[in-house]
Amino acid sequence: MESCLKCGSPMNAKDLICSVCGQNDYDEYQLIRNYVKTYPNSNAMQIANATGISISKILRFIKSGSLTVVDQDVHRRS
Ligand SMILES: [Zn+2]
Repeated sequence: MESCLKCGSPMNAKDLICSVCGQNDYDEYQLIRNYVKTYPNSNAMQIANATGISISKILRFIKSGSLTVVDQDVHRRS
């Protein structure tokens, strides 16, 4: 059983965060993803500056494997 990266609630292993936390993070994830698509070689600092999302949150997306700043295609988890 995986737990939500945000609040720690037990949840489905294929998701990063639980459904309660999901919607907020999804919006931010889309922002980051769109930025990385446009600027594939960006590092986390550049993404943070451009999107206004905290660098720790961006690093969490990267670490979890849902986002990569070196490949043009983000990993699909489903
Ligand atoms: Zn949660």
